[in-house]
Amino acid sequence: MRSIRSGVARVTAALALARGADPEHVETEAEARRVYLAVACPWCKAPPGARCTGPGGKPLTKQPAHDARLAEAFSAAR
Ligand SMILES: [Zn+2]
Repeated sequence: MRSIRSGVARVTAALALARGADPEHVETEAEARRVYLAVACPWCKAPPGARCTGPGGKPLTKQPAHDARLAEAFSAAR
């Protein structure tokens, strides 16, 4: 779980920087949420603006969004 969390942190920081955020003021969580909520999730099919859901339609608790969505948002932001 630690590796996943640090991976997400790295992606979110990169996302914020890619969008021109000041590195000293990168609010990674909030910034990343805006970015990945702008795209649909290719994994769970969550539409833009909706959170990722796991089995049973419950919101994810272990991570803010699926890795596939973060990757999608990251490539879209470049
Ligand atoms: Zn998802």
